[in-house]
Amino acid sequence: MSVETQSKLEELSAAEARLLVPTYERNAVLFERGEGVHLIDEQGERYLDLLSGIGVNALGYAHPAIERAIVEQSRKLIHTSNLYFHRGQAELAMRLVERTGLDRVFFANTGTEAWEGALKFARAHAGLLRSEGKEIGTKFLAMEQSFHGRTFGSVATTHKKKYREPFEPVMPGVEFVRFNDVEDLRAKFSSDVCAVLVESIQGEGGIRPLSAEFAQAARELTRTSGALLVVDEIQAGLGRTGKWFGYQHLGILPDVTTIAKPLAGGIPLGAIVCTNEAARAIHPGMHGTTFGGGPLACAVAIAVIDTMEREGLLAHAAEVGGYFQDRLRALQKRHPAIVEVRGMGLMVAAELESAALAKQVVKRMLERRILINCTSETVLRFLPPLVLTKAHVNEAVAALDGILSEAVAEDAAQTAGGTKNG
Ligand SMILES: *Cc1c(COP(=O)(O)O)cnc(C)c1O
Repeated sequence: MSVETQSKLEELSAAEARLLVPTYERNAVLFERGEGVHLIDEQGERYLDLLSGIGVNALGYAHPAIERAIVEQSRKLIHTSNLYFHRGQAELAMRLVERTGLDRVFFANTGTEAWEGALKFARAHAGLLRSEGKEIGTKFLAMEQSFHGRTFGSVATTHKKKYREPFEPVMPGVEFVRFNDVEDLRAKFSSDVCAVLVESIQGEGGIRPLSAEFAQAARELTRTSGALLVVDEIQAGLGRTGKWFGYQHLGILPDVTTIAKPLAGGIPLGAIVCTNEAARAIHPGMHGTTFGGGPLACAVAIAVIDTMEREGLLAHAAEVGGYFQDRLRALQKRHPAIVEVRGMGLMVAAELESAALAKQVVKRMLERRILINCTSETVLRFLPPLVLTKAHVNEAVAALDGILSEAVAEDAAQTAGGTKNG
C-alpha cells in the first residue's frame, strides 16, 4: 500500500472513529470501483471478490444490465410512494410468483424488514384462524444457529445470544429447535405455534443446509395445524444455490418466503412472497412502507432476474459451485485443518479447526487480494458473484493452499523453537 493511501485510510478511520456509532470493524481497504468479479482500490489494485457485498452483487460489478436499468429508470421516476401505481411492482411480482410457486408479494426494503413483515403476517393469519374457531396460538418456533436480521422481531428469532441479549426484552413467544432435529421439532410443536421459521441453508450460522427430512416434517406438522411454514431465502435465494430458491432442493413449498440480498443488484429491496391463504388476513392499512417497492428498485430487480435467466446463471452457479466444493474437498485431504466443506451452488463454506486460524486465513487472503469472510467463528464463507468462473476458483483455492501451508510451517517452526528454548 502506498504511503498516500495509507495516510488517507488512517484519516478516514480516525474520522469514522470520531463520527460513527462504532458498530463495525472494517478492513483497511478503500475500494473505488468494481468490474465483473473484481473490486478495484484507489491505486488500481484488483481484488477477487468471493463475498459480493455479503451475497448482494450476484451479477458482479458494473454489469451493463444494471447500469442501464438505473440510468433509464432514474431519468423517469425514482420514488412515488405506495399511494400511487407504477408499472414495476406487478411486473416484478409476476416474476417472483412464477419462480417461487407462491401467489402474492409484499415489497419491503431490506432483509430484516421483509422478515418482520413475515412474522406479522403469521400472527395475523393465526388471529384470523382463531376468529374462525380454530385452535392456534401465537408462538414461533425458530432454529438454533438461525439468523434473520437486526430489528426486534428478527433478533428475537435469531439464535445467537450476542445479537439479542443487549436489547432485551425482545419480542416474546419464540422457542428454538435444535437444527435438523426432527424429534426436537415434534416435541416442541403444538397448537400454540403460529409459524415454523427456517432458513433453507443457514447463512450466518455457517452455511448449514436444512435437511429434506426436517423440512418435510415441518411442512407436514404446519399443514396439519394451520400454522405457517416460513422460509428465509434472503441469503440462499435467487439462484445462488443453483435453483431459484433453496427450498426447491428440499421437496417442499413454504407458505411464506422472504428474499432480499441480491434482488435489486445492490439497490436495497426486500420482498415477502406468500400464498393467498397466508395473505388472507391482511387488509389495506395493516402493513406498509414508504420506500418499499419503489420504481427504481423494481426496475433494477426486473433487470437482475431477466439477466440471470438470459445468462443461464443458475446452471452456472450449480456447476462452478460444485467444482468449488470438489476443489476444497481435495484441499481438505492435504490440510487436516479443514474440518468440513459444505454448501450448495455458490454458497460454500470450509470450516476450519480453530477461530484463530480462520481469522488469520481471512487476513492473509486479503493480503493476497482475495476477499472472503469468516462466520460462526470457524467457518470460511464464500458467497461470490454468480458470474464466477472455474479459473477464479482455481486462483482462490491455490491461495488458500499456500496460506494453510504457511500456517502449518509457522506452527512447526514455533513448536521447534519452543522445544529448543524450553
Ligand atoms: C442478511 C440476512 C438477513 C437480514 O437482511 P438485512 O438486509 O441485513 O436486514 C436476514 N436473513 C438472512 C438469512 C440473511 O442472510
